[in-house]
Amino acid sequence: MFKKPRTESLKLKLFRFLNTRMELSSKDKQYYLNLEKGFEGEVMFDLLTKKLQTDCLILNDLLLEVNNSKFQIDTLIISQETISLFDVKNYEGDFYYESGNFYSKSKSEIKNPLDQLKRCESLLRQMLQYHDFKLPIEPWVVFINPEFTLYQTPQNMPIIFPTQINRFLKKLDSMPSTLTGRHIKLADKLVAMHQIESPYPQLPPYAYDQLQKGITCSMCHSFSISVGEKNIVCDECGCEEKVESAVLRSVEELKLLFPDWKITTNLVQEWCRVIESKKTIRKILKRNFRAMGYGQWSCYE
Ligand SMILES: [Zn+2]
Repeated sequence: MFKKPRTESLKLKLFRFLNTRMELSSKDKQYYLNLEKGFEGEVMFDLLTKKLQTDCLILNDLLLEVNNSKFQIDTLIISQETISLFDVKNYEGDFYYESGNFYSKSKSEIKNPLDQLKRCESLLRQMLQYHDFKLPIEPWVVFINPEFTLYQTPQNMPIIFPTQINRFLKKLDSMPSTLTGRHIKLADKLVAMHQIESPYPQLPPYAYDQLQKGITCSMCHSFSISVGEKNIVCDECGCEEKVESAVLRSVEELKLLFPDWKITTNLVQEWCRVIESKKTIRKILKRNFRAMGYGQWSCYE
């Protein structure tokens, strides 16, 4: 049972918009691609945990804070006797382990996921103690990508490799587990303590004038689209979408990128670029938002 489902983070969405509409620096671009890859890996893991039949509670994507330290949990599974804590890594390619450190094959050292896991476990334990829950925590790093190899791994590490995930979950599933109100209370408590962090301070600087205008394809993000009477069609991938839904999607993008701005017909027309008729835009806005003010000064909420 998914007590807290995973959704795309606002940060990932915003980075995706910016990547489509402007040239990101190579550092920002790398950061963005890692976000995409990380999310993809977490979704892959969700597809597997979703199949669990045992009586358990699954909590995804928690951002918690204890003693002024924030920590992020990818997946937490509460079962009768244990809390399993998973950090999901979607690393691809060859890596090796040497005296406590992780290296990629190009010999560059990467952040040790086991250190992150240890920190997360310790903070979670403090939090459970504080709220007087006494379940033991079992922490794991899950390498989800089937193309991942780690050379020289000692055997006693809390790591689940791609070839072990199914067996691991099968074992978890075969453990007898009956949850009580106390487990549910713990899950509710954790969800209630989840923090929402504003992604805006973490974005690269951007300005409206610097962003490419136009409706993008919902599938491949291309700007090359043809607008018909009712539908837009992507010239790259052939994907079709109703004009109304494409305009609303673009407005949503605009609102997320510039949360304080007033949405007007003129602004949306300039932002969408390819819709020639102001009347079409006004009609769509009227149908989907609440109009404020009148005539040329009206804006939509
Ligand atoms: Zn497309």
